[in-house]
Order: sequence, then structure tokens, then C-alpha cells
Amino acid sequence: MSIEIHEIIRSKRKTIALVVTADAKLVVRAPLNTPTDYIKSLVQKKKKWITEKQQAIVLRNEIHKEKQFVNGEGFLYLGDSYKLEISKDEQQVILKHGRLILPETELRTAGEKIRRWYKNEAKRVIQERVKYYSQLTGIKYKSVKITDAKRRWGSCGPKGSLNFTWRLVMAPLRVIDYVVVHELAHIEFADHSKEYWVRVRTIMPDFEKQRKWLEENQKLLDVI
Ligand SMILES: [Zn+2]
Repeated sequence: MSIEIHEIIRSKRKTIALVVTADAKLVVRAPLNTPTDYIKSLVQKKKKWITEKQQAIVLRNEIHKEKQFVNGEGFLYLGDSYKLEISKDEQQVILKHGRLILPETELRTAGEKIRRWYKNEAKRVIQERVKYYSQLTGIKYKSVKITDAKRRWGSCGPKGSLNFTWRLVMAPLRVIDYVVVHELAHIEFADHSKEYWVRVRTIMPDFEKQRKWLEENQKLLDVI
């Protein structure tokens, strides 16, 4: 897929700059005589950088917006943004054809209904990931509980009872996996000792990237 260039601004500058704006559009600033074909090929070459930047902005915008529950509003699920569609036909909140569908009849209690949907999804996804990593590592757990926590992503109770906030299901799967691994590893090491982090790293070598994502997107814990 080719990247859409929103605007090319030519001026008396010497170099080309690719700018991703606050609303995730790509603006190219270029010297006066730069051929458009050259700009297009440059944009293609930088495709990965541009899309990553755009995705990060879309994500951040979704997170910081107060929810209105109107058509087209974005909701995060597994790190992607889905547009809300208020439907006369559907009877329940459901993800369908790349949209998050909310029945018109539930509009009055939209927040509550969508939270419930998130919670069910979180339960399904997180339980599956815990099972997967438990089998992979041989770490045995007792139970998985999905909570409403707004302060922490997950916690590990006595004898391997694991808790995760449903809000985690808005994050990319790899980030969810990190929290799962983090709590599972606490069954073997209760603290955050050096040995503990060595264990985490053995299971997930790039865990620091996911941990950074959680720090940067802490606001997710506050959304709806
Ligand atoms: Zn911990």
C-alpha cells in the first residue's frame, strides 16, 4: 500500500523534511525544484517510519479523548483503533467488519455496555495468553481474575492467583504478553530482584520495549 501525502510544501529550503502532523497526516517540505516523483519514492522508502509515527499518533489521540459514543469515534482493541458504529440491527456490542458496533437501544448506557464488552474480551484474550505462557515456561498458576483496576495493569496474589485489569485489552498483544509474563514470573520471584528480571528476559527478550509502551500509554488506565 502506498502512503498518502497530504500536502507538499515547496519553499526555498535545502533539504526535504517529512512531517507527521498532530492529526497523523503526512506533510512533505521540500526545496522548490524537487520533482514530485522523487518525493513519492522517498516517502515509499520511509514507509515504515511514517506508518509507525502515524499509528502512535492515532493511538495517543484515542487515549486522550473523552468518549462521546458517537458514530466514527475510535475505540482501541489490541492496539488498533476501531470506529464506533451505532446500529439499529445489532442486539449487542460486537466487533464486526472492522467496526465496533453498539446497538442504538444501548446508547443511554453506552459506557457501561462497552466496558462490559471490553471485560469479556479481556477475559478471553488474557486467559488464553496466561495458559500459553504457563505451558511455555512451566510456571503453574492458580487462577486468572479480570479486575477494574485503574492503578495497575496486573498483580500476583498468594499461591499464583493472577489479576489483570480489563483495560489491558486495549493494548497491543505483545504488550499484554509482557504483563502476563511479568505476573507469571512473580510466582517464582515475589520481588523485582535481578534474578526476577533475568527470568522475565529469558521468556521475553524484548520486554523493555513493551514496558516502555505501558509507561507512555499509562493514560489507557483512565479511558472510559
Ligand atoms: Zn512486578
